[in-house]
Amino acid sequence: MTDDPTSDPLLRALLDRAGVRAVHVRLDEQWRNMLDHAALDYAAPVRDLLGEACVATLLISAQIKFDGRLTLQLNAEAPLRTLFAECTRQGSFRGIARLSSPGTPLTAPLDLREQGRSSLMAVTIEGIPGNLASGGRYQGLVPLESPDLSHALETYFERSEQLPTRMLLAADGERAAGLLIQQLPAPEREVDDDGWPRAQALFDTLGRDELLASDGEELLFRLFHEESPRLMERAGLRFACTCSRERVTDTLRSLGESEAMAAIGTDGHVEVDCQFCGRRYRFDSIEIAQLFHGGLADAGSEGASDTRH
Ligand SMILES: [Zn+2]
Repeated sequence: MTDDPTSDPLLRALLDRAGVRAVHVRLDEQWRNMLDHAALDYAAPVRDLLGEACVATLLISAQIKFDGRLTLQLNAEAPLRTLFAECTRQGSFRGIARLSSPGTPLTAPLDLREQGRSSLMAVTIEGIPGNLASGGRYQGLVPLESPDLSHALETYFERSEQLPTRMLLAADGERAAGLLIQQLPAPEREVDDDGWPRAQALFDTLGRDELLASDGEELLFRLFHEESPRLMERAGLRFACTCSRERVTDTLRSLGESEAMAAIGTDGHVEVDCQFCGRRYRFDSIEIAQLFHGGLADAGSEGASDTRH
């Protein structure tokens, strides 16, 4: 979490009487920070979907006990090839999107149902305590039956959690935001059969423009004031990449010796740019040779040659 909890916050609130929890995420500075570090200039519809995906992982992560990573990944054919967003329970996030034909002009919002017949979207959670049988890992498929991510994830919740859930996501070049409401499990809520329909009716009055334009706390109290929302948590969020020289070393090693040697440029170095944050990793030909013929510890250490471009 960032030192300044007022910037780019995640808010958790309870609507006690209705038996509903709410999570709100708003990314401003940290969303622009992520875009600034991206290796690619995203077309607006791709950028907006990526922003929504980052917000969605943060919203989902707020109500699960885990101490690892939560990812939302779409593997598709075209025009999108990959959409990937990841966050930790500590509030860091990163994401990336790739098109099958870079440079394809895109203007309309991307329809998740039209990214190829073999498209698959999954939510993966690593580091779930007590879930040893699966190595602490959970994976669930997101049905691609809706055009937009908000509705696709609502269907995902309906089928995986069986807790009624609503989600609204929105993003542009300046910010990304989302609101999730979920009915509490029966033992945790008072008997009020009308609570969930009431909360949903209020949720349905919220549009994307208002979501993007509003401060989270103001929005929660304006939208749900009849339900007397109670703020439970306010946490700071930040863009952070988990790349490291060690990971890049592993990737180079997995290429095999001939391919890794072939990647050595005319200046005698291999340069690998992290697609998430733009950090540049440089390896000289001796380090590359050592990957395959001992001396791995040297190649895996933090080198002074890592830079950001
Ligand atoms: Zn990185």
